[in-house]
Amino acid sequence: MNDCLFCKIIAGEIPSKKVYEDELCYAFCDISPLAPTHFLVVPKAHLDSAARITEENAPVVGHIFVVIAKLAGEMGFSDGFRVVTNCGQSAGQTVHHLHFHVLAGKELGSFH
Ligand code: 5GP
Ligand code: ZN
Repeated sequence: MNDCLFCKIIAGEIPSKKVYEDELCYAFCDISPLAPTHFLVVPKAHLDSAARITEENAPVVGHIFVVIAKLAGEMGFSDGFRVVTNCGQSAGQTVHHLHFHVLAGKELGSFH
C-alpha cells in the first residue's frame, strides 16, 4: 500500500509523534487533536477500515484494545476516554487505513 498515509507513518517515511509501538500496532498523536489527549492506534498490517475485519485479522483489533487499556492506565485517563473508528465516507473516514481514535482529557459528552 505505497500510497497510504498511515503506512508511510508506520514506516517512518512521514514523521509522527509516537505514543506506543509493538510488532502489531503503532500509536501516534493526531495532527489535529480534538481533545487534550487524542492519539490514533493503527494495525501495522494495512487494512482499509473496520468493514474489512474478518475472523482471520480480528486478533489485531483485540490486541489494539488491550494496548489502549494499558496506555489509559499508564497515561492516567482510564477513568474516562472514548475510542472511535470512522468507517467509510459517510462516517467521515478520511484516511483509509483502519485507525482507532483515542480521546480523553476533557468532558466528552454523550455521543448518541
Ligand atoms: P478519520 O477522519 O479518517 O477518522 O481520521 C483521520 C485522522 O488522521 C484525523 O483526525 C486527522 O487529523 C489525522 N491525520 C491526518 N493526516 C495526518 C498526519 O499526517 N499525521 C497525523 N499524526 N495525523 C493525521
Ligand atoms: Zn496503510
